[in-house]
Amino acid sequence: MDLTFSEQETAFRGELRGWLAENPPAPEPSEGGEDEGREGTHFFWRRDWQRRLYDAGWAAPSWPTEYGGRGASLTESAIYFEELGRARVPMAANVLGLLLGGPTLMVWGTQEQKDRYLAPILSAEEIWCQGFSEPDAGSDLAALKTRAVKDGEEWVVTGQKVWTSGAQYSKWCMLVARTDGEVAKHKGLTYFLMDMEQDAVQVRPLRQITGEAEFNELFIEEARIPDANVVGGVGNGWKVALTTLMNERAGLGFALQIRLRQLLDDLIAIAAERGLLEDALYADALAELHVRCESIRLLAWKGLTDVEKYGQPGPEGSLVKWLWSDTNQRLTQLAADVIGPQALTAGTSWSYELLRARGNTLEGGTTEVLKNIVAERVLGLPRLKATA
Ligand SMILES: Cc1cc2nc3c(=O)[nH]c(=O)nc-3n(C[C@H](O)[C@H](O)[C@H](O)COP(=O)(O)OP(=O)(O)OC[C@H]3O[C@@H](n4cnc5c(N)ncnc54)[C@H](O)[C@@H]3O)c2cc1C
Repeated sequence: MDLTFSEQETAFRGELRGWLAENPPAPEPSEGGEDEGREGTHFFWRRDWQRRLYDAGWAAPSWPTEYGGRGASLTESAIYFEELGRARVPMAANVLGLLLGGPTLMVWGTQEQKDRYLAPILSAEEIWCQGFSEPDAGSDLAALKTRAVKDGEEWVVTGQKVWTSGAQYSKWCMLVARTDGEVAKHKGLTYFLMDMEQDAVQVRPLRQITGEAEFNELFIEEARIPDANVVGGVGNGWKVALTTLMNERAGLGFALQIRLRQLLDDLIAIAAERGLLEDALYADALAELHVRCESIRLLAWKGLTDVEKYGQPGPEGSLVKWLWSDTNQRLTQLAADVIGPQALTAGTSWSYELLRARGNTLEGGTTEVLKNIVAERVLGLPRLKATA
């Protein structure tokens, strides 16, 4: 990818920067974490922000114009995330719909599905969640047990999902279920869009180390899904799920590395205020984080080149996600040394960052699993053989 920006790209950056300067988000609510379903709390603040982006045509510029985007190029999409990061605005409420669900439908969805689902993702009218993980199927997603059985024009789904982020607000769940138990485990899966607004789907919050319940358990007891909500064909769920996962690692990876840079800039500023940059140990640790941030930034840009070449994110996205999560954990741990007790006091933004970072090496694929992907699919090393 050529990192010299064209006139058009520079104009795109200028227009967005101008809009963001004139349209700052409402002040961040001081109380109520992600799980609080009251107006005025975090989720609603992020939803209102997404609506404002949407009204101005900035919710997902990379989407094609026919679906409400701007048909922005990959470089413009990257500029978009850089400028949102620079302006320090909140993450859109429907991030899983915008970055995972929408792009998956664009690859695998029927025209009817695209026409029906894409617009309300963009406007945050319908929030999406990702129902992949189960109590006995996380890294080994293909081992999942939730079953879907055909009944006329519908599927009847029974099973349990876990760690489902944002399920408490969601209208639609990207659900992977087993539709054939007789074939190899990867082949018997189907990808559905499940309506969360039915009694057969119970959402129970799981409280995290941060104190908030960002994710949930889903108990599904004979939920009904119309046949029209199968995405990518019956028995093709594994391939469709991989599209979602690659978008998760590459798309989110790009946005998150920008957030990482901001946190590091904040930490360097605090270290400078406290005179710690003169201390070789702190200076060395901060410099190493700086080098890591730059490497991740360049790898994230390289990931966009792959999308340009091959049409979808490649396995290299796993490398960005692995390095980002590892670096964010190192950064927040260093913050505890630089800032002292305030970073360990519940309710402060640094304590939130420190505690929330623990989940980074698990969500979206654990570091061990990502390392396997990088070894086998990026470096071409031999597959690890299980020993008896
Ligand atoms: C904050 C957060 C949000 C999440 N949001 C969602 C969501 O919205 N939707 C959703 O579906 N899921 C979500 N998840 C779940 C996440 O995808 C899983 O936690 C993850 O895939 C790991 O699965 P697991 O927890 O079952 O761990 P396991 O797969 O049981 O892994 C346990 C340990 O074994 C290691 N391991 C497993 N297999 C291998 C292997 N082949 N080689 C080497 N080591 C291995 C793992 O690295 C890990 O250390 C979320 C998780 C977190 C932390």
